[in-house]
Amino acid sequence: MDQLPFARRVPLLNMSLTFREDSCAARWLSRDEQDYAPGQAVASLHQHIAERWQSEWVASFMGGRAALYAVIRALALQPGDEVLIPAFTCQCVTNAITFNGVIARFVDIEQETLGMNAERMLAAIGPRTRAVLIQYTFGLVCRDLEQLLDVARHRQLWIIEDCAHATGASWQGHLLGTLGDIAFFSSERSKIVNTIHGGWIVTRHPALGKRLMQIQDDAPCPAPEFITRLLHTLRHAYASLHSGSLPTPDVPLLPQMQADELNGLFSPQYQWRMAEPVAELLSLQLARLPEILARRQRGARYWQKWAQKMGLQGPKPRTDAQNGWLRYPLLANEPQALAKSTLETRLNVEAGVWFTTPMHPHPCELPDCPTGMDATRRCVNLPTWLWEAAD
Ligand SMILES: *Cc1c(COP(=O)(O)O)cnc(C)c1O
Repeated sequence: MDQLPFARRVPLLNMSLTFREDSCAARWLSRDEQDYAPGQAVASLHQHIAERWQSEWVASFMGGRAALYAVIRALALQPGDEVLIPAFTCQCVTNAITFNGVIARFVDIEQETLGMNAERMLAAIGPRTRAVLIQYTFGLVCRDLEQLLDVARHRQLWIIEDCAHATGASWQGHLLGTLGDIAFFSSERSKIVNTIHGGWIVTRHPALGKRLMQIQDDAPCPAPEFITRLLHTLRHAYASLHSGSLPTPDVPLLPQMQADELNGLFSPQYQWRMAEPVAELLSLQLARLPEILARRQRGARYWQKWAQKMGLQGPKPRTDAQNGWLRYPLLANEPQALAKSTLETRLNVEAGVWFTTPMHPHPCELPDCPTGMDATRRCVNLPTWLWEAAD
């Protein structure tokens, strides 16, 4: 490919933010911090989520990692119990499990959709295995989905769906997040919908739902200072996309991960419930979900054709799914960092390297999970929200 396909560099993050979210954040910054407590906006967000995912029980937290932390508690798992997770995930997932004293056991993945390998899952079940986490990596419905669900039901394991990459995606007409016992989602800045940080949970299981309500009601709210920083971070992200001159932020912007959690140390963020301004921002983003997904699907089709033409190894998405396509993953044959920079220069895009270890970014070697390890060395991801004529 000699010519750059995009005149303007395509960013990897924040593309779904519009002036609506920006002005919502600006309005909240002019209000009293006392108004940050969960109220009407959280209630109407929950109603929207309950209707969309046809789930009676909904809870919201300040991140997908906090949502998973609450899921583990709602399942009443005991120290020493095990949750099976794919050997191609991020440290927030392992943290949310191990912070509860529960063991995260890695299971190898398959190469077509980068999801958990069902045969390997069956082999990994032990006497303390209580749950399996089905992760829809890059929003792709797992190649082995049916077998994963069947084995889990047959062996009486709880089924947790990790929909952090897959908000709004579906399989055979069923929304992801409605296939197992309990599911969580993320609105972190790198995900399908963006509130900088945020997450939510849906379940139709009454006993889990009731415990979840208690956990959420007992959960602390973040300090107002955290929310103020979040609102500034969102405004800064929007400005970086839409204006040439970046305002100097009034407060330090929020990082994606805090230093303590990167070191595997407990961080209070894993307990915080969602604050009112974040719920309003999330409602704005979810209202545009069909448009956001259609756009990402167009981007993925573009890369699919391109990969085919270039002879590059892309995923093999299921044809009975509306995949979420958070990113378009390629398995490169040269070292990951080199592949990333070559693609960035050649295509004028910002590329990503999810995941560089099975618990990204924390170093981790798993000789028993060769396919996961191989993906951590070769996977490079392209943005699926591409510039279009109307932009
Ligand atoms: C981002 C992510 C999470 C956690 O979401 P946060 O909102 O960032 O806490 C969980 N699982 C996967 C696979 C993710 O990529």
